Amino acid sequence: MNVDLSRRSFLKLTGAGAAATTLGAMGFGEAEAATAAHVRAFKLATTTETRNICTYCSVACGIIMYSRGDFAAGEKAELVHIEGDADHPTNRGTLCPKGAALKSYVKAATRLTRPRIRRPGSDHFEDISWDEALDRIARAVKDDRDANLIERNAAGTLVNRLTTTGFLAASATTNETAWATWKVVRSLGIVGFDNQARV
Ligand code: SF4
Repeated sequence: MNVDLSRRSFLKLTGAGAAATTLGAMGFGEAEAATAAHVRAFKLATTTETRNICTYCSVACGIIMYSRGDFAAGEKAELVHIEGDADHPTNRGTLCPKGAALKSYVKAATRLTRPRIRRPGSDHFEDISWDEALDRIARAVKDDRDANLIERNAAGTLVNRLTTTGFLAASATTNETAWATWKVVRSLGIVGFDNQARV
């Protein structure tokens, strides 16, 4: 049989065949429909998204935390998934292995979730409230600054140096938080000021 098949006709024919194959693969056959009926619903569909920063290192990648629970009804949020924030300029959705394992870190039984103190003479730590911890830190810094602030150097120049209190800042933070931290620490005159990124 002599078939006169032009290039245009050939492309139409092969295109139709490919389309038919694709439709079958997309689930228009009976077997595919049955399979599709068992596909799980998207697991994040009913979750609440909360943007945050990875806690691990100074790269400070953006993350999205997905949780379940009706907060308006007073329910406690249950974290179900964490992934990289595609809109964050630092990591654009990517996470290193440590960041990708953040959910395990959050849910670890050994995770520290409250401030702790070992009082003078004690051999163990005990939990205290955030209010008590902040009050104690504020009191200690104020007392130390009142007692030890160096207002002028040997030449009589005003310097306002506080060399007896140090401050270690976290690097997993935003530019705005870092700016506010810098302002507070330097306005107290603290000289010993370092960052987690260098530790
Ligand atoms: S995801 Fe990795 S690189 Fe990014 S902040 Fe966390 S630990 Fe650092």
